[in-house]
Amino acid sequence: MFYLLLINFVKEYHLSIIIYNFMKVIIHGGFFSESDQSHEVKTAKQDSLKEIAQKAFGYLTTHSAFDTVAYAVSLLEDDPLYNAGIGSQIQSDGVIRMSAAIMNGNTQKLSGVINIQNVQNPIFVAKDLIREDDRVLGGNGAKIYATENGFENFSTEIPQRRKEYEAKLANGGKGTVGCVAIDHEGKLAVATSTGGKGFEIPGRISDSATVAGNYANAFCAVSCTGVGEDIVSNATAAKIVTRVTDGMSLEQAFSKTFDELKTIDGFAGAIAIDKDGNIYHRDSYPTMVFASFDGEKLEVFS
Ligand code: ASP
Repeated sequence: MFYLLLINFVKEYHLSIIIYNFMKVIIHGGFFSESDQSHEVKTAKQDSLKEIAQKAFGYLTTHSAFDTVAYAVSLLEDDPLYNAGIGSQIQSDGVIRMSAAIMNGNTQKLSGVINIQNVQNPIFVAKDLIREDDRVLGGNGAKIYATENGFENFSTEIPQRRKEYEAKLANGGKGTVGCVAIDHEGKLAVATSTGGKGFEIPGRISDSATVAGNYANAFCAVSCTGVGEDIVSNATAAKIVTRVTDGMSLEQAFSKTFDELKTIDGFAGAIAIDKDGNIYHRDSYPTMVFASFDGEKLEVFS
């Protein structure tokens, strides 16, 4: 009897270790450029990404990958360091329009909002839309849906962005945010949120709420940042996921896809996890800011 109990205990113990080791989360916060951002900004981004990666992992221990990616992206949206949610870029007509999408690799459903105004967390509106037949809403329709579903009017503008806008300093604060996670059941999910490029023509559509910027299935999940037009031209996230589905390793899939991006001199970065829990990230122009955490190993961009 004692041995039976012991065996069961060992089995359970091992199982929980395996489960614990399987869960992983990787997040990104767009790009960092030594030439137009200070050392303080770099350190602040490193600290914030480390903290959010750990919080997201803690959340993942009791939630699905799908719930976790939305949670992680909402934390990134709430941090004014990034160009998503609070701190989003202002467009050429002085208005902030944000886009966000989420994809459940298990059900292969994507939902998103494109060019939504005045909500604190576009990713939560995107997440609510997963239960609808019409899952990607744009502009006014997205805002009306958000209001009807209890999202309060909220201005995500910060004085720094207004100053940049007024000085017409289109210094390309590429700071889209994203999260990819694998949960204890091996299910994958991805979420991405952006304030856009800054100073864009009103109506421009970013990659972030498309399958080029945010894509997942049962084999792989990918979130991108960079110049939306380049990411869409290269179908970046969808290509990487398809290649992994067809048998390539993450490294091979990234390598081929980023080689193709080079032919258009594309500017992009991407983070990914595959069904076996492998993590990968790469950028075409340094440096994408990212952090990953698996409960033990915490990695952050340098
Ligand atoms: N991909 C975003 C866009 O083009 C920008 C970014 O990643 O910062 O709208």
